[in-house]
Amino acid sequence: MLSSVKEPLFAAYNIGHAPLVKEKLRDKSLFKMVQCAPSVRVSIGEDFGLAYGTVTPGKMAAALRRLGFDRVYDTNFGADMTIIEEVSELIKRMSEGATLPMFTSCCPAWVKYVEYFYPALIPHLSTCKSPHQMQGALMKTYGAKIDNVDPGCVYTVSVMPCTAKKFECQRPEMEDSGYRDVDAVLTTRELAYLIKEAGIDFKALPEENFDAPLGDYTGAGAIFGAAGGVMEAALRTGYEFITRNTIPKVDIEEVRIGTGVKRQNIKIGDREFRVVIVAGLKNARPLLEQVKEGKADFDFMEVMACPAGCISGGGQPKVVITTDNFKAYEARKRAIYQHDKNLPFRKSHENPSIKKIYEEFLKEPLGEKSHHLLHTSYIPRS
Ligand code: SF4
Repeated sequence: MLSSVKEPLFAAYNIGHAPLVKEKLRDKSLFKMVQCAPSVRVSIGEDFGLAYGTVTPGKMAAALRRLGFDRVYDTNFGADMTIIEEVSELIKRMSEGATLPMFTSCCPAWVKYVEYFYPALIPHLSTCKSPHQMQGALMKTYGAKIDNVDPGCVYTVSVMPCTAKKFECQRPEMEDSGYRDVDAVLTTRELAYLIKEAGIDFKALPEENFDAPLGDYTGAGAIFGAAGGVMEAALRTGYEFITRNTIPKVDIEEVRIGTGVKRQNIKIGDREFRVVIVAGLKNARPLLEQVKEGKADFDFMEVMACPAGCISGGGQPKVVITTDNFKAYEARKRAIYQHDKNLPFRKSHENPSIKKIYEEFLKEPLGEKSHHLLHTSYIPRS
């Protein structure tokens, strides 16, 4: 059953960032930039009566322009950027004998879980900011420069499948550029409400492109929306960074997961990489206990807190009947991998706009500028 949002805006809308975003959209002194997470484009159509897993990036971009955003960018670009930085970090840790296994840091609920319950394991978390925070920092710096606007006048909004991102964007560490990376987070549902409230006929919208260059993305960025996607994207790039050869098979189905835990050994050059993918926070605990006891038998672990990764995030359109949940998740997941297959570039390091931003602005992965804008630190909270 598809969710339908005919009722008046409900409480979650009012306590969210949507009223604030509406107010800022009316403020003519601001230059408004928005970005959309990979999993939003395969779910938002459901709130307009489209079938589960309908892929609507073009309509979403068109709707955001009609809501009044000056630049419509994409978190998928930030996901590609995350891969470059995260893979470089992993290679550096391995070559220097630094802390391993490394944990991904894309999911703020997972990061906070480690901060609360396993603070001694914080050094295992990648120092990479999550993709939308990286993207926000780039929008306020590189993006502001492109449009010749004062970064102080740039207002950045992220459309996310996730309520934890609302907390994440307010972390004090997330303003290394001198400006808050992301000013507000809207969930998929909140964006759907705003579109309906503005009287925009979503289904009738034309397909429009995201703005270049911070809206250009590869299939690797697109698959971040499904559990296992970060790992697969990292392996596509890691293989080519380490061996300097073309990866024989871009689709690494061995690391795709529905829910639960999956372990896999992947051969890269002369080394066997032991990777773990975890979907659903409760499944991470035994692995963390293993690491705590010094008995970890893996090198790299992806953890996404929601049961099937971001496609099942708390801010996604509601599927009412429980048995329908996994039907919806499956359809959204299929849509994500199909979207990946249809894109001209499928490895993050092949994104021409990523190459350009390193040439013009960041200079090198893990370099001074990257360290300053794209990496972060964590707080023991127990
Ligand atoms: Fe947010 Fe869930 Fe995705 Fe984590 S897995 S980033 S909590 S939507």
